[in-house]
Amino acid sequence: MTLPAALRPLLETTLGPGGVIAVPAALEPYERDETPGLAAAPDLVVLPRTAAEVAAVLRLATEHRFPVVPRGAGTGMSGGSVPVRGGLVLSFERMNRILEIDEPNRMAVVEPGVITGDLQAEVASRGLFYPPDPASHQFCTLGGNIAECAGGLRAVKYGVTRDYVLGLEVVLPTGEIIETGSRTLKNVAGYDLTRLIVGSEGTLGVVTRIILRLLPQPESVRTLQALFSDIRTAARAVSRIASGRILPRALELIDSGAIRAVESFLKQDVSGGAGAMIITEVDGPATATSGEIETLAEVCREAGAVSVKLARDKDEQDRIWKFRRSISPALYTIKPRKINEDIVVPPARVPDIIAEVQEIAKRHGLLIVCFGHAGDGNIHTNIMLEESERPRAELAVQEIFAAVLRMQGSISGEHGIGTSKAAYLRLEVGAQALEAMKRIKLALDPNNILNPGKIFLSAE
Ligand SMILES: Cc1cc2nc3c(=O)[nH]c(=O)nc-3n(C[C@H](O)[C@H](O)[C@H](O)COP(=O)(O)OP(=O)(O)OC[C@H]3O[C@@H](n4cnc5c(N)ncnc54)[C@H](O)[C@@H]3O)c2cc1C
Repeated sequence: MTLPAALRPLLETTLGPGGVIAVPAALEPYERDETPGLAAAPDLVVLPRTAAEVAAVLRLATEHRFPVVPRGAGTGMSGGSVPVRGGLVLSFERMNRILEIDEPNRMAVVEPGVITGDLQAEVASRGLFYPPDPASHQFCTLGGNIAECAGGLRAVKYGVTRDYVLGLEVVLPTGEIIETGSRTLKNVAGYDLTRLIVGSEGTLGVVTRIILRLLPQPESVRTLQALFSDIRTAARAVSRIASGRILPRALELIDSGAIRAVESFLKQDVSGGAGAMIITEVDGPATATSGEIETLAEVCREAGAVSVKLARDKDEQDRIWKFRRSISPALYTIKPRKINEDIVVPPARVPDIIAEVQEIAKRHGLLIVCFGHAGDGNIHTNIMLEESERPRAELAVQEIFAAVLRMQGSISGEHGIGTSKAAYLRLEVGAQALEAMKRIKLALDPNNILNPGKIFLSAE
């Protein structure tokens, strides 16, 4: 779509100096997120500083019927912030302040453009803890986390973003500014609009302020890395830990493809040729964690680990987590392209889904790398491919989703539907639930201006 030329001066007046990007070369970074193979150019990018400015932009969009696509850091993996129908990208680079840390009530109030890791570090310096921990925390924004209901490494114990959002300021697609929730841990006044907006992928409202719940910083954290000869044995160890009496705060599973990729990426042999790795971590009082990590080490050994290493200090912990966080970039050293899914199954079914994915890979002659938050059943399956393998890879995706749904899981644990999974949403939720979702979208966004082309197929 091309915006009417008269809109640009109107937007420049509304947003003030530096508030509109129109130079084609400067628009380029806003064409894509981290979804492989997806790009679309915006007509303009606007950088609001207040909810009132966002509201003014949305009123103009309503009047002139152009798409508005909210954008955080563009680390999304389902195309959420890609302007697939052109229009305006609404970027929150200038709304990136931590407004308040309310220590007595353990809450933080932030603008949507705050980087997740910056909030984590700021609250940690005051003895507080913001648990949601997407592996992208050094780059992604809290606004993007709210919109995707981001999960991450600690979800197995602490839950996901929705569990920490107490209230929001939201600009509706028609330009009204509303507040949802409150600064309290309890609130049942009316429909839970906070939860409706969390995970709505920037399609129902634009988040302009966020009230987050914080916890006390745990006194101690202990980390363990265990190596296994093969992924199936490691997956069985995962389900033993997940069903045991100790609740780890992270329980990650990494297969041989991912291990080899990271070893070559970091130029280090960490595993001595192992076929799978588990990283697990406990937190709490020091008197408890030292016994707990020893118990988890024993569970790994009994399940068949060939080696178990307990991190002795923070440096060793950081090295272990650096290995895990390097997987995504390292995978591109294997093949030029990937199709990345983030399926989730009930935790006890992790060994079954791993076995099923291996069968599917074999059947189609594909390399499928599996890693991820296995403690909560969320496995990132990455089909690594040359372009010529894409038709087979797409068949494999369908078979993986069918297996996940048979196991009563979900096609997306944390990356969202966006454009990349829109074709499959009906399979999971059914026609009537999909209709109910569309009616909610229509009620809040009658002109379909906010992030159109996401979640729902255009033809539906
Ligand atoms: C290496 C890597 C590791 C990752 N690991 C994880 C992980 O462990 N767990 C996980 O959950 N995800 C993970 N992700 C995915 C991604 O980081 C998350 O989805 C994150 O929440 C996106 O944040 P963002 O700021 O980049 O948002 P963007 O990608 O810019 O946008 C994501 C969605 O949010 C919407 N949006 C952004 N800001 C607003 C706003 N203010 N109001 C309304 N809608 C808005 C956009 O329209 C879009 O639909 C990973 C990504 C990478 C690249």
